[in-house]
Amino acid sequence: MQASPSLLIVDDDISAIRVLSRILQGLGQIRFATGGEQALKIVQEMRPDLILLDAEMPGMSGFQVCETLKADPLLKDVPIIFITSHTETQVEEAGLALGAVDFIGKPVKPAIVTARVKTHLNLKMAMDQLSLLAQTDGLTGLANRRLLDQRIEREWLRARRNQSAFSVMLLDIDYFKRYNDRYGHLQGDECLISVAHALKGCVRRATDLVARYGGEEFAVLLPETGAEGARQLAEEIVQCIYNLDQVHETSDCGRVTVSVGVASLEAGELPHLGTDASEAPSIAAALLADADRALYQAKHDGRNCSRFVPIQQVV
Ligand code: GH3
Ligand code: MG
Ligand code: MG
Ligand code: MG
Repeated sequence: MQASPSLLIVDDDISAIRVLSRILQGLGQIRFATGGEQALKIVQEMRPDLILLDAEMPGMSGFQVCETLKADPLLKDVPIIFITSHTETQVEEAGLALGAVDFIGKPVKPAIVTARVKTHLNLKMAMDQLSLLAQTDGLTGLANRRLLDQRIEREWLRARRNQSAFSVMLLDIDYFKRYNDRYGHLQGDECLISVAHALKGCVRRATDLVARYGGEEFAVLLPETGAEGARQLAEEIVQCIYNLDQVHETSDCGRVTVSVGVASLEAGELPHLGTDASEAPSIAAALLADADRALYQAKHDGRNCSRFVPIQQVV
């Protein structure tokens, strides 16, 4: 969650922007736009916590801006308050039906605007916190499987659109059942936390995602990364966990190790099937099944190593 919320004021009338900025000063970082297109551009860049949107503007109207944002899965949850001099019931109804959270009449009354903006900012912060919790693994603080599945699907569709490389990695701690049996479940949990921490440290790109896949299994999503890059990272990860030197007396190596399976596709190798997301739910499962075949091979070949397959199952 951001320390200071961000607000976007959109109005074709500069003096109206000035008035609102003055009223809302101190509630967050304020940016403004004087037209619909400019507003959409800014929203893409900064994803504000709240938009105050003038309904009547020349060119793209506030209603059109609202409709455009609500149609975008990444932006549809940005709350919008309409500000308008048309306070007739039908206009208000139309705005709320488009998904706006509130409606404020011009000329604005400072105390009312402040109170409503505060309410909606508080709600937005609470929603952000909830969705973060819903996407986080409670033990390790990594992304959970739900977020992993969502991100794999989104990144895969993006990779297919851009014909970019793509890799997904599955990791499994070796002989972890024996670890629990030998050291107890609580220390097992501590071990999961240190492996998670080490994994995060191995991954460098902001677009890479490290997740707890379940139990003692982790996944790393590597957009725009082909087999060579993924192979390097997989080997680094195996080494890094080995170097943690965490005692595991009942494992072959005497310390905690992981096995890694990677499924990769090179740039330009993806089937170009457009952007239809309707098949998305099966994509994550298919890609992870490929990585799992590689992981099985790594286990079979003695553990504490990584193995690779090309992505096959998704067409
Ligand atoms: P392999 O090398 O073949 O992966 O052997 P393994 O023992 O790691 O594999 P197996 O899948 O048989 O066991 C996984 C174990 O992970 C079983 C379970 O006790 C443990 N485990 C799963 N989730 C948790 C957890 O949240 N905390 C702890 N402490 N242990 C867990
Ligand atoms: Mg106007
Ligand atoms: Mg396992
Ligand atoms: Mg295991």
